[in-house]
Amino acid sequence: MKKAICLCSGGMDSTVAAAIGKQNCQELYLFHINYGQKAEAKEKDAVRKIKDALDAKIAFVDIEFFRNLSALTSAKAPIPLANEVQLDSTITPPTWVYCRNLVFVSLAAAYAESINAEKIFVGFNAEEGQSYPDNRPEFVNRFNSLLEKAVASFSRPPQIDAPLINMFKADIVRKGIDVAAPMHLSWSCYLNGEDHCGECESCQHRRRGFKEAGVKDLTTYTSV
Ligand SMILES: [Zn+2]
Repeated sequence: MKKAICLCSGGMDSTVAAAIGKQNCQELYLFHINYGQKAEAKEKDAVRKIKDALDAKIAFVDIEFFRNLSALTSAKAPIPLANEVQLDSTITPPTWVYCRNLVFVSLAAAYAESINAEKIFVGFNAEEGQSYPDNRPEFVNRFNSLLEKAVASFSRPPQIDAPLINMFKADIVRKGIDVAAPMHLSWSCYLNGEDHCGECESCQHRRRGFKEAGVKDLTTYTSV
């Protein structure tokens, strides 16, 4: 495959997906979206480092729409920390961003069509899929079907490739080691601190993933 893109937040999952993408194409573009998230400066910095580590290219997109629509993007809404995080919650958490993956893969597909990339690698996985339908195989399959009708008549429809879709965090860490993904450069925290906070939902998942995988976690966390 000549060209592929990877929807890359700079987090661990998309970093592993990017490393897999890089093994499968000649030119990889990391596609990163700034949607007003609190951690954007750290995420963007991580994506730049991952780009260098994988010898990839980069595309940044800014969208204003999501500002203030989630605890991830609103200065007024705090990020749940430590035991405020409801991992088994039956209600929508304040960190949910409305239809985010649908919007993001649509933008990624537009970019893929514009550069004639064949695939869009994503870090969707079974861990997130437990809570969120837009991380499940059915979402990917339906969107790929839709893409066949979404591009110009003479364009080749790009397809989403979700290599982690059946994996939980520990599996993703092991896979990351297998494919030499630069996980140590990734940024998972919802906050914008000097180091990972260790207490937000995303940090808790990251910590547990390394621990369960039995892999040394090189991340520095503010909380012990
Ligand atoms: Zn955190």
